[in-house]
Amino acid sequence: MCGIVGITDAGGVSFPIYYALYALQHRGQESAGITTFDGMNLYKHKAQGLVAEVFDAGILDELKGNSGVGHVRYPTTGAKIPENIQPFYFTFKNRKFAIAHNGNLTNTWQLKEEYESRGQIFCTTTDTEIIGNIIADELTHSSSIQDAVLACMKKLEGSYSVALLVDDTIYAFRDPLGIRPLCFGKLNDGYIVCSESVAIDALNGEFLRDVRPGELIKINSEGITCTQVAESSGYSHCIFEYIYFARADSVIDGKLVYNVRRRIGQSLHLEAPVKSDIISPVPDSGIAHATGYSESSGIPYREGLIKNRYIGRTFIMPDQKARENAVRIKLNPVKGHIENKSVVLVDDSIVRGTTARRIIDIVRDAGAKEIHMRVGSPPIKAPCYLGVDMATRKELIASTRSQEEVCKHIGATSLHHVSIDSLIKATGLPPEDLCIGCLTGTYPIKIGEEKACPRCITYKSGTYQSALKEFD
Ligand code: AMP
Repeated sequence: MCGIVGITDAGGVSFPIYYALYALQHRGQESAGITTFDGMNLYKHKAQGLVAEVFDAGILDELKGNSGVGHVRYPTTGAKIPENIQPFYFTFKNRKFAIAHNGNLTNTWQLKEEYESRGQIFCTTTDTEIIGNIIADELTHSSSIQDAVLACMKKLEGSYSVALLVDDTIYAFRDPLGIRPLCFGKLNDGYIVCSESVAIDALNGEFLRDVRPGELIKINSEGITCTQVAESSGYSHCIFEYIYFARADSVIDGKLVYNVRRRIGQSLHLEAPVKSDIISPVPDSGIAHATGYSESSGIPYREGLIKNRYIGRTFIMPDQKARENAVRIKLNPVKGHIENKSVVLVDDSIVRGTTARRIIDIVRDAGAKEIHMRVGSPPIKAPCYLGVDMATRKELIASTRSQEEVCKHIGATSLHHVSIDSLIKATGLPPEDLCIGCLTGTYPIKIGEEKACPRCITYKSGTYQSALKEFD
């Protein structure tokens, strides 16, 4: 998963992009980058680390210009090497390009083979570079970026939300299923397109709307134009954005993420009520879910664990050992809240099971009598091929174990995962508009040997047209 942003602003863009990336930091902590254009040249800076580590005021002063794109990276494809840090930039036919991508293509290797056999070279091991290469290739026989993006979309399979800088103009487009979020807003002197609405809030901008699946947004000093370039057979929002990945204060495709999580918490109580003294979240990911559980049950909400806010999310640790140690550094129990108490502990998800086991150890060591684990996602049974690092089936604790076995493994008194039905209800979205591949092993796109849902979109069926529809 990654975060992307594109901004045009008459007052310069490096600082606004920096603030926007700061707001999107939760989407990727491995590396960060900004590329800007000042009418003549591209200015770029990118490096491994958090946004605050990668940039300082001096660097931002050097990133000149009124248009630019930025990226925070959380690697899903491609190794953690400097070459893979985004945005990527290149010059083609005297035009300057920079590209930032969130998502995961499922046909990267076929595309790479196809383009390498034509003599194209690749400098990175990511799927993003292929998008840039296809667009450049299309521009050998058309000068229209819109046509090139459209032709590119016809070839891509998988999930992609992209911000593409071409000289002083930003083009942003979203895959025909809208799997990853992308929205845009108005700034004082320009426009912003970004992964989540919180980046618009950070700049005190006005949220306009989400980019529609298959839509292309163009922003520059002349304003904004929106074109439906690819026909969409409907949404396949990633359910995991709502459960865990997005910030709780983001509004994604019309839904406030915090409220979705609160409703999940309410369902957790209704589905598996239990007598207990306190409801405690696993911070920060379980907070919104736990407030919902507490509201519905009337049992007091108390923080039983306090998070050290200065270390990253456990899943960015390089290996299992580092991940295990990180949990103790990250969370400290509030003994006075949990000693001799029956505790309902609420978290967003159990992926590998390491975090839950460690946390339950910590809470038990602090004197809890009973620990009832309640989880805001149904059991995660299958990998994600569309942008979330979910690990392999073998690593997913629920892929081969029953709920009772998982409960025993993590050492809880009882365990309950929200049901798929309640989860879908909590989103307020129709079930057919969601990708729940990680919960069911059935995906909205045909991926290798995996099952695809009946509505599965065929990307090469000729459903793409140039400028299907223009929006104001
Ligand atoms: P674990 O079960 O040890 O893999 O850790 C799961 C916890 O890590 C969840 O409660 C989430 O807060 C967080 N998490 C969410 N998504 C992921 C992911 N894709 N990989 C690893 N951890 C994740």
